[in-house]
Amino acid sequence: AHLDRIHSTEDEFGSFITVTDDLALETAKTVDARRSTGEDVHALAGVPVALKDLVVTEGVATTAGSTMLENWVPPYESTVHNKIKAAGLPVLGKTNLDEFAMGSTTEHSAFGTTRNPWNLEHVPGGSSGGAAAALAGFQAPLSVGTDTGGSVRQPAAFTGTVGVKPTYGSISRFGIIAMASSLDQVGPMGRSVADAAVLHELLAGHDPFDSTSLPDPVAGYVSAAQTSDLKGKKLGVIKQLRGEGHQDGVRDAFSAALDVAAAAGAEIVEVDCPSISYALDAYYLIMPSEVSSNLARYDGMRYGLRIEPETGPVTAETVMAATRAAGFGDEVKRRIILGTYALSAGYYDAYYGSAQKIRTLVQNDFAKAFASCDVLVSPTAPTTALKFGAEAASDPMALYLGDVATIPANLAGIPGMSLPAGLADGLPVGFQILAPAREDVKMYEVAGPLE
Ligand code: GLN
Repeated sequence: AHLDRIHSTEDEFGSFITVTDDLALETAKTVDARRSTGEDVHALAGVPVALKDLVVTEGVATTAGSTMLENWVPPYESTVHNKIKAAGLPVLGKTNLDEFAMGSTTEHSAFGTTRNPWNLEHVPGGSSGGAAAALAGFQAPLSVGTDTGGSVRQPAAFTGTVGVKPTYGSISRFGIIAMASSLDQVGPMGRSVADAAVLHELLAGHDPFDSTSLPDPVAGYVSAAQTSDLKGKKLGVIKQLRGEGHQDGVRDAFSAALDVAAAAGAEIVEVDCPSISYALDAYYLIMPSEVSSNLARYDGMRYGLRIEPETGPVTAETVMAATRAAGFGDEVKRRIILGTYALSAGYYDAYYGSAQKIRTLVQNDFAKAFASCDVLVSPTAPTTALKFGAEAASDPMALYLGDVATIPANLAGIPGMSLPAGLADGLPVGFQILAPAREDVKMYEVAGPLE
């Protein structure tokens, strides 16, 4: 049914780069066969899932939304896909994204446009825009995205779905194509808190193949979401993200959600996190610095695209230059240049070094804030989904500013999620919940009853 739905709606939505009909049907049949023999299968066995095309799938093209990897078929498997295979979830396909996850609209993909199923004239958000559109367009019941600065939470907000960025290190990054390694985290996405929670439980857990993987046992996110209530819970509204400069409808929807929480017994307090005002600046130095280092592997030699110069000598340097000129899009090039500059000798302390100090201040502010509340809350994004054309993509600075509320969680490594909080001018608004590191369960305890 989901494959049929994909085939009848893909012309409109464009959520997928690759649809894997055969793989999905084969898995579904295997699960059916195992069930019919009375075998005890995973609770999610047979439930289809869509994977952001940044998740490596052995034998299935994985592009990262880039011409650089257009024809790359991975010879190895990611831990995320391994877990999904072992549990028997049919993979419907690989979803569209901004190239190497850099962007907020999915317009920076080398493989076409994804549209917001709520209104096709609007973007689905990004960079996990395809994963979010697949959910909102009922093409898939579950999606896997990645979140380096908001790429799961912001598209979830723009499509009225639920997107979770777990604590840094709780889901393995092994086989997730790297953007900025100290910020990257895999994120489960669904149309309800419980759906995201059950996928979160499947994907989380220690992985010896990822040196930053946490040893923590996986908590019961589903039961936390379903059995808790809001009585006595303290929700801290972050003063710096309260809604100054936000779209009116976003501010109204956020206030209305706070009223619902208060009516259900939550205590709403305001908390001050002054360093959050600098988080965006720090992110847009640290992230490109790591990008410039991570993307150095695309050299036209080892794998992926290889272009030889049309004239002149064929050397390592000229092949590299020709390959990168043709293989990377403008936004990726912009970030590589920015990062290389920030890391260059003489500027290191002024830029990268200062940004790392702000990162520590953000962590300290969060630690202080969590001492007096259970979770922190804010609108997920200052606006609803942007319209194609004038507003979106044309102004990189304006797009960067849209990440103001999601970036602090990545800098601090804490978990965050976005859940739907009604509509503004006919488009969904996201409500963000942040929890202390390694206490993801606390955000489900609030998200479940609030939903
Ligand atoms: N919009 C942010 C950026 O462009 C977030 C990216 C992400 O989380 N992958 O960097």
